[in-house]
Amino acid sequence: MTSRKSKGQPYEPGTVPAPGMLLDWRDARHFDARQDRPCTLCLRPTPMRSHAGEAVHKVCAESWLAANPVEARPSRFANDLQAKRRSDTGHA
Ligand SMILES: [Zn+2]
Repeated sequence: MTSRKSKGQPYEPGTVPAPGMLLDWRDARHFDARQDRPCTLCLRPTPMRSHAGEAVHKVCAESWLAANPVEARPSRFANDLQAKRRSDTGHA
């Protein structure tokens, strides 16, 4: 485990998208504008971060999820928690 400073409350991952589905990373904390770090998957610099603080492109995380069967992925990359649910009115 890496030691890393976190201020404020941790934000927890939500559900893991089904293979082929896109991650829902709307939270600004997925984007670290201060620093690019090598993506854990493709090794190119990225400002994107997973919930665990791993540097990873969103597309790389999505590819990883698509490439790994559900049993093999311990929710490494997950959607943001949905804070509140809208009533289902059919809006996108
Ligand atoms: Zn990448």
